[in-house]
Amino acid sequence: MSVKDKVAIVTGSNSGIGLGVAEELARLGARVVLNSFTDSEEDHALAERIGAEHGTDVIYISADMSDGEACRSLVEKAAEHFGHVDILVNNAGIQHVAGIDEFPVAKWDAIIAINLSSSFHTTAAALPLMRKQGWGRVVNIASAHGLTASPYKSAYVAAKHGVVGLTKVTALETAQEPITANAICPGYVMTPLVEKQIPETMEKYGMDRDTAIKEVLLDRQPSKEFATVGQIGGTVAFLCSDAAEQITGTTISVDGGWTAL
Ligand code: NAD
Repeated sequence: MSVKDKVAIVTGSNSGIGLGVAEELARLGARVVLNSFTDSEEDHALAERIGAEHGTDVIYISADMSDGEACRSLVEKAAEHFGHVDILVNNAGIQHVAGIDEFPVAKWDAIIAINLSSSFHTTAAALPLMRKQGWGRVVNIASAHGLTASPYKSAYVAAKHGVVGLTKVTALETAQEPITANAICPGYVMTPLVEKQIPETMEKYGMDRDTAIKEVLLDRQPSKEFATVGQIGGTVAFLCSDAAEQITGTTISVDGGWTAL
């Protein structure tokens, strides 16, 4: 079994890691649903561009992952369009940094909704479809922060630990079916948002680019290299391959050794 002709939904995929995962799956011949909460011409053009580049069907479906009903309807719309949903990659996520005592309640609620509850809703909608067709892969993009903590990231760390827990339960509930559920735990990944932080960090600490990257941004990443969105996409593809058939309910770290520390 390969991902060719499989239908994959990637939540939060008009930028960053989600976009990288979607492009890798399209490159391997999957039919892909891109998603974010916006509904612009650029979003739909992006889907068309990726589809044309790789000779496969790629569509964009707008759905706000902070809204449980919208999460479920994303899966339903994808199934209506393509006839089935084989691969679900729960990737949408946001971040906010503040101490617990001053963490804005609205930010806590949004992070839990988008980074954790959305995966519950999309998985709940996708499992019956996967069961009916007799094959399915759920891949949750957690984080090194699903396994370790950092100060000032209470909501993010709580949500990502929650994603790892949800992954394990999904795996146990599907253990005797041809469905697997796993979480990928990236360390620092090079995305446009991270790229933007480099000049900001250089200015803040008066450092050159290399020092700002190695000593500040990659402080906890022993390899002193960013992971790439293509590597996360490749890991998703591996989890969808035959070699990964008996891999379920686990986490795969792509973190340059962060969690070995
Ligand atoms: P990003 O900001 O580039 O991408 C986030 C995506 O989620 C975007 O497409 C955005 O439009 C979408 N999104 C945000 N709110 C949404 C909503 N309400 N509904 C639908 N879509 C929404 O960030 P990224 O770095 O690519 O992060 C992607 C995932 O990877 C997140 O879950 C993040 O926690 C995780 N992650 C990132 C890193 C990293 O270093 N970049 C490391 C570990 C884990």
